[in-house]
Amino acid sequence: MAVPARRTSKAKKNRRRTHFKLEVPGMNACPNCGELKKSHHVCASCGFYDGKEVSSKEA
Ligand SMILES: [Zn+2]
Repeated sequence: MAVPARRTSKAKKNRRRTHFKLEVPGMNACPNCGELKKSHHVCASCGFYDGKEVSSKEA
């Protein structure tokens, strides 16, 4: 039900927001260096993807 924002108490608002961003979305440990990386993305730390180095940037 729609309620004016000033009628929603801080406690009520905070309790609703406990469900926001409980987890970092789509993050996995890199199999090469173990850093947390986004799945289906090249690792920002070591430049590896699918067991191969694909980034020209030297780590
Ligand atoms: Zn890595």
